Formats: sequence, C-alpha cells, structure tokens
Amino acid sequence: IFAAVEMAPRDPILGLNEAFNADTRATKVNLGVGVYFTDEGKIPLLGAVKAAEKTRIEAAPARGYQPIEGAAAYNNAVAALLFGKDSALLANGQTITIEALGGTGALKVGADYLKRLLPNATVYISDPSWENHRALFESAGFPVSNYAYYDAATRGVNFEGMLADLRQMPAQSIVVLHACCHNPTGADITAAQWEQVVAVIRERNLIGFLDMAYQGFADGIKEDAVALDLFAASGLQFLVSSSFSKSFSLYGERVGALTIVASSKEEAGRVMSQVKRVVRTNYSNPPTHGGAVVAAVLSSPELRQQWEDELAGMRLRIREMRKSLVEKLAARGVAQDFSFVIKQRGMFSYTGLTVEQVEKLKTDFGVYAVGTGRICVAALNTKNIDYVADAITAVLK
Ligand code: PMP
Repeated sequence: IFAAVEMAPRDPILGLNEAFNADTRATKVNLGVGVYFTDEGKIPLLGAVKAAEKTRIEAAPARGYQPIEGAAAYNNAVAALLFGKDSALLANGQTITIEALGGTGALKVGADYLKRLLPNATVYISDPSWENHRALFESAGFPVSNYAYYDAATRGVNFEGMLADLRQMPAQSIVVLHACCHNPTGADITAAQWEQVVAVIRERNLIGFLDMAYQGFADGIKEDAVALDLFAASGLQFLVSSSFSKSFSLYGERVGALTIVASSKEEAGRVMSQVKRVVRTNYSNPPTHGGAVVAAVLSSPELRQQWEDELAGMRLRIREMRKSLVEKLAARGVAQDFSFVIKQRGMFSYTGLTVEQVEKLKTDFGVYAVGTGRICVAALNTKNIDYVADAITAVLK
C-alpha cells in the first residue's frame, strides 16, 4: 500500500535546523528557529515554572484523564490573562476556553470546528504569515487566501491595502489576525488601526480568529492584548488561539488554549458542546502536566509576579539585541538604515536580506536565517552578535 507514496516536501524551517546541526563550524549561529534563547544561548526553564513543577512533583498527583476541555483552573486562568480578570465577557459567561496542544492545536481545533459550522467559508491569512497557517487551514478543508499586510518599502504594514482587502471579503469569511508580534515580519498595527479593523470586520460580517502566540513579548501582558480588548468591547463573536510555548518557555509541553466568545452564556454552552466533539474525536483530552504548571503559576500571586518579571526579562533582552544589532551594523559602515529592526516587535525581524544574501550568510559564515530574510532576534546574544553583524555587513557589500 505504500509503494507509490511520494516523499512530502521538507518543512522549510525544520530543514534549516537539520542543516544547522550538520554544520561543523564552531562559529555557526542559528537565527532560523522561533525560540527564545538566553544570553548563554540556552532555552530557559523559568524559575516560576521550576517552582510550580517542584510542588507538583512533591504532591505526586494521580494521572487520571482530564475533562475533554482540560482543567477548569487552567481554562479560567487563560481567559483572565487574555481579557483581564474583571472582563464583562467573563462575568457574563460568554466565553469558553479549552486547553489545547499548543497554539497549533488551538488553531486546528478552531479550524475543524469552524469547518463544521461554515463549510463554505474562505480563510484569509496575512501576506506573509506564519508558514503553518495556510497548511493548517487547508488541512481543515478550507480554501485559504491572503490579505495584504507587509509593505517591503516601509518595512511596516500596508494598512490601506489590508483594509481594502478586508472590505472585499465575502460575508462570513474567516480572518486570521496576529494579535501581536506578527510572525514573520515583526510589524504590528497600532491600537487605532485595530479599531478600524474591528469596524470593517463588523461591517462585512467577518469572523475574526486572533492568533496570540506571543503575549507579553512586545510591551507586556495587558498592553499586548489591545486587539483582544477591542474585539471584546465590540460585541462581536470571535475566536482566539493562545500559547504558552514562548511566554512560559514550555515549547515541548504543548500548552495552549482555544477561546471562543459567543453572544450569551447559553450560546457559549452550545458552542462548547460542539467543540468538545471535535476534541473527543482527535485526541480525547489534553495532557496534564503543562497546563497544571501554568495554572499553578498564574493562580499564585508570588509565582505570577516571578513569571511576569522573567517574561519582562526576555522581552527586554530581545529589545537590547535589536538595538545592539542596529548599532553594530551602523558602526561597521553599513549604509542602509536598519533602524526598522528596533521598531519591529516580538521575536522576529524581517531584515530585507535577499534569498542570495541569506544563502551567502549560511555558506560563507554558518549564519542560518530563513530564505525570506526573517531572523530570530531572540537567538542573538552578546557572544554571537558581533560575528552576526560582521557576516551581515559582508553579505551586504
Ligand atoms: N501562531 C504563530 C503566529 C506562531 O508563531 C506559532 C509558533 N511559532 C504558533 C501559532 C504555534 O505555537 P505552538 O508552538 O504553541 O503550537
């Protein structure tokens, strides 16, 4: 039965990791991945996580099945993180949250549910977007199109183009929006622009699906939720996928959530019953450990403070690397203005380097970036940044 099976194309970013691992140069640097590293080049295990894990291991809890939707303590903590604990939506019982397998799992459960609800809808993603968005929604059976987003000339957002595309979408189209820290470009829209997006979503009767994979990496937990606040205040129904992969540095534990805002508590109950069917036929119920750790951190005032401090530390280190890279390129006499790198938010920067320049970075210097010119700023550190700045300067010549 497998004789005629064709080899699937390699995942572009995972393929880059394989090439990086095979590279024997001691000076090699991997800027291709979407992971935060410390200044020592390590993936951190946060102190707040370590403390919550220690308590949990000592308590030695039994490993029974979770409910289909995951633990209530976790789901409530997620909703409070997204909308604020005093949110009217939460008080009204209008939201449902289910624990999902990372942000990816949340997107897929949401996509599968939406396919049942709106079988003829089209999904729109930003141009460009996280490379898995298109494949994920296509695998749920949707046609996927782009809306204008990145403006290479300004290295910012082509907001007029974005609005124009939103205005042309058929009613009940699904619009995937990066809530903050756009991946791959690092270019976000402002709060005032979000207001306009929400207004068009309402006018055109579109369905917003907000992807929040980096809450806390731009300006802070509350500050980064501005899009969610505006959607919440709008009275619209919408979906949110969120993830603790980055903000808790829990990549491999697969901790995320799908939250859906309905128009009433009664409606939310019906939606939950349908979402649970999707989960039940996929993986039945989520794993215990990651969610329990996150819930423990978020519900303890001390651990929560510790986590927020650690998150701020990651955010500030990335900012320092952005500033430092720009300064070091200027100091090396690079004529081109790279100050946009400081304005971009989150882990990534679209550097504007061409495919050829990215290739040269790899072959001549062992500096690995994505072919689109995306680099992970969170992989720069005080030890490798001079080498990276030298390499970029050389390929720009
Ligand atoms: N959405 C976006 C925009 C992302 O960048 C990522 C992670 N790279 C995800 C979703 C998926 O997150 P997770 O690793 O938690 O599945």
